[in-house]
Amino acid sequence: MAAVGNSSRTAAEGTARVLGDRFGRRFPYLRLSLTEACNFRCGYCLPDGYQADGRPRFLEVDEIVRLVRAFAALGMHKIRLTGGEPTLRRDLGQIIDAVARVPGIDKVAITTNGTLLPRRLPGWRAAGLTALNVSMDSLQRERFHAITGHDRLPEILQGIDLAQALRFESIKLNVVLLRGLNDEELPQWLVFLRDRPVSVRFIELMRTGDNEAYFQRHHLRAEQMQAQLLAAGWTERPRAADAGPAREYTHPDHRGSVGIIAPYARDFCRGCNRLRVTARGDLRLCLFGESGVPLRPLLQSDADHDELLERITTQLGLKAAGHGLHQGRTGLVPHLASIGG
Ligand code: SAM
Repeated sequence: MAAVGNSSRTAAEGTARVLGDRFGRRFPYLRLSLTEACNFRCGYCLPDGYQADGRPRFLEVDEIVRLVRAFAALGMHKIRLTGGEPTLRRDLGQIIDAVARVPGIDKVAITTNGTLLPRRLPGWRAAGLTALNVSMDSLQRERFHAITGHDRLPEILQGIDLAQALRFESIKLNVVLLRGLNDEELPQWLVFLRDRPVSVRFIELMRTGDNEAYFQRHHLRAEQMQAQLLAAGWTERPRAADAGPAREYTHPDHRGSVGIIAPYARDFCRGCNRLRVTARGDLRLCLFGESGVPLRPLLQSDADHDELLERITTQLGLKAAGHGLHQGRTGLVPHLASIGG
């Protein structure tokens, strides 16, 4: 069975107990997918758009609250809402409010393509959203359109300005590195970061069940970007013992920072600090795992709380040391929208 041991979190983050596994990793962080649906058509994820498959509906608010209460009881303090595109849920404000009220949860983050930010962000902030990740694969409008299938960059940039005005604790921009499509934009990003206190995360393209040809054409190792940053005077921030898998770089002349997420790096899984639950309530121990454990049957009544804790901790005992991406094993995931990227 997985341990529920004392956390290695800093004093500022509290002394709550945090879930841990047999490899000494701690899991203060849950990624919860709210939907598999997405309104974008990113070439590496859903190039033909989302196709509904008629299977059971996504978790409802009361199920989400029971789930989050269970993870909070096991020491998790941060929830990231993702998808699919989580902002497509009409009840998103209600979900944020309910999750933010769960005792022990002090960070409620979202990963979004950002198209609804200008209209909806103030309401979500007021409901308890504390951190924002926005996917933005290019700073050039035409390219952004070509990669995502949508000409929406101007309003996404507007949403990021709004997030700064609303004083979010953390604003991160996700850029999937794509050979031949957006791989020479680093200088432009560094200018963007000069006066904006945001973090740009360059994410190495991952191979999934559906994207093999795209992966072969556009995959690029992130190491070359690290070399460019070092040459431009950026330095790597020392990594905290419980830091996630990103390597962070800063520069004294820039208010923003750069993160590199390199899932094909050998030590990547050593920094794993998150678990995932799919939009239909399956616990996934790894983005690229071969199995999912249904939690939904235990989310129908408060009476199942203890059994739910037991199921989660027992499963965590089975979490593997690393993913099988190097061996070409992509697990159950046809694309990241299906699990919550
Ligand atoms: N729809 C939301 C969004 O656009 O941010 C959340 C879900 S999306 C699956 C989460 C993140 O995963 C996005 O930043 C997306 O670019 C990234 N992503 C999707 N497929 C990927 C892949 N094969 N490799 C690397 N990143 C991927």
